[in-house]
Amino acid sequence: MKGLPAETDFVVIGAGVAGLRAAIELAAAGRVLVLAKKEVAASNPQLAPVTALSDEDEVILHLQDTLDAGDHLCNPEAVKVLLEEAPGRIDELIVWGSQHARKLVFGLESAHSRHRSLHSDGDSTRSEILRALHVKADSLKHISVAPFCFSTSLLADAGHITGVSLIDDKGVPQEIACSAVLLATGGLGQIYRNTTNPEVATGDGVAMAFRAGAEVSDVEFIQFHPTALYMKKVPRFLLSEALRAEGAHLRNFEMNRFMGKYHPMGELAPRDLVARAIVHEMEVSRAKDPFVYLDLTHLNAAKVRKRFPRTYTTCMQHNIDITEDMIPVCPAAHCAIGGVRTNLDGKTNIEGLYAAGEAAATGVHGANRLPSNSLLEGLVYGARAGKAMGESARSAARPGIQPKAAYSNGPVDAGVEELVGQIQAVMENEVGIVRTRMGMQKAIKSLEEMAPKLAHPKTRRAHEASNLHLAGLLVARSALAREESRGAHYRMDYPDHDDKKFLKHSLVRGDKVVFVS
Ligand SMILES: Cc1cc2nc3c(=O)[nH]c(=O)nc-3n(C[C@H](O)[C@H](O)[C@H](O)COP(=O)(O)OP(=O)(O)OC[C@H]3O[C@@H](n4cnc5c(N)ncnc54)[C@H](O)[C@@H]3O)c2cc1C
Repeated sequence: MKGLPAETDFVVIGAGVAGLRAAIELAAAGRVLVLAKKEVAASNPQLAPVTALSDEDEVILHLQDTLDAGDHLCNPEAVKVLLEEAPGRIDELIVWGSQHARKLVFGLESAHSRHRSLHSDGDSTRSEILRALHVKADSLKHISVAPFCFSTSLLADAGHITGVSLIDDKGVPQEIACSAVLLATGGLGQIYRNTTNPEVATGDGVAMAFRAGAEVSDVEFIQFHPTALYMKKVPRFLLSEALRAEGAHLRNFEMNRFMGKYHPMGELAPRDLVARAIVHEMEVSRAKDPFVYLDLTHLNAAKVRKRFPRTYTTCMQHNIDITEDMIPVCPAAHCAIGGVRTNLDGKTNIEGLYAAGEAAATGVHGANRLPSNSLLEGLVYGARAGKAMGESARSAARPGIQPKAAYSNGPVDAGVEELVGQIQAVMENEVGIVRTRMGMQKAIKSLEEMAPKLAHPKTRRAHEASNLHLAGLLVARSALAREESRGAHYRMDYPDHDDKKFLKHSLVRGDKVVFVS
């Protein structure tokens, strides 16, 4: 697009599934500017099936699987909406250009009782969904997409959101006035050293919303994926559940299968259980390099190559032939379950501020996410938020002209990178898969001590560091306050549920955490 407008009707921050789906809905109500901090296809994830109902499935079974995964903390109404509206959202994608229509394959994933994860073209489903959304968005003249525009904060007047501040693709600060903003900024996995998330997942939406006074809920629940590729200096490429569903085995350093000791469903046990089992096996082995193996070597090689083309090619790039070699794997932070608290229409507690997708906490996932429900959440709740925003639109106020100086896109600052490394290390070590009071108190203290160094960010990366820091603190404070284990949150000092006190959602208020129904 040619230059950014000083004013528009709606700003959507994020060009992933949730942001694009919302923009398509909003285009009927006015001009929509979609911001993406990198190129538009760079968000989550490497591979991703989406859940949908196959002919042999029923809404009630999918509902039950989702509620079971959520460990009694899902909002059943939110789950019902998700599942009832899902078929409509998938059908329209097919009309808009997804190739799902050509080739539908339903696979089984962990914690699902039926084959309902929809795959297209081997393991490239998500890019197909994004492609279909782009085709539709490009056909709507009211939508403009601005890549490499980094939103730094939300503007508000008298308790109503009035626009956004950003650093544009040339490094120049801008303010854009609008009547409502949607946060669709994705996850916050980059607060951890080991994560499957892309570089853009730095929790910007949660941090911006919290600074603006929005409620942030359930952020202690971080889903760790048990099997990411473990190789030094190589991104933690996700080795999907579908591999284990096809029969892949987990083996420890002695080459023994171990999941049977931990859960009757073995390799297909819920993600958090598999992740904890792996952590335990890694501790027992006392190996210098923390990993176990994923073994597909007993499966039909041609079938594996055909079913998982992307996994095969990616591992080959690192000299691992998955049909012949054991794959070194470790758990990695994968999905934020909580986020900016919204109602079922994506509305937050701040007038004019909406959130959808992984940045939002709708109550759909409860305390843990059923694998493959996230893309569906982005589609269903993105559309709902877009519709609600469009209906409540009011005219945009013009903010004052911003001086164009001071900020920049770079250069890379070694000091900032060092701080990012410290945040990631402290979160990984103390607020990871297995948590304790002492560890989390230590993490909070270290993060608080770092705060002054991050207080006045000048570059994009410094803003990201500041957002990672705040998101990390919110996660650590919420995790410390929840004195029980539930869903994706596991504490050694409180290994059981405490329904009396904690069958509730956490809410961060300032530096305090409260629990609400
Ligand atoms: C490896 C991997 C595999 C996954 N597999 C599955 C799966 O099989 N099934 C499933 O359902 N889910 C899966 N998930 C989860 C799912 O993909 C995500 O939850 C979902 O894609 C999130 O979509 P979103 O639209 O909320 O955000 P994203 O798709 O992450 O998009 C975020 C957008 O926000 C932009 N952004 C962020 N901050 C800023 C800022 N400050 N200014 C401007 N723009 C900004 C980014 O540039 C990006 O465009 C997977 C996730 C990963 C990482």
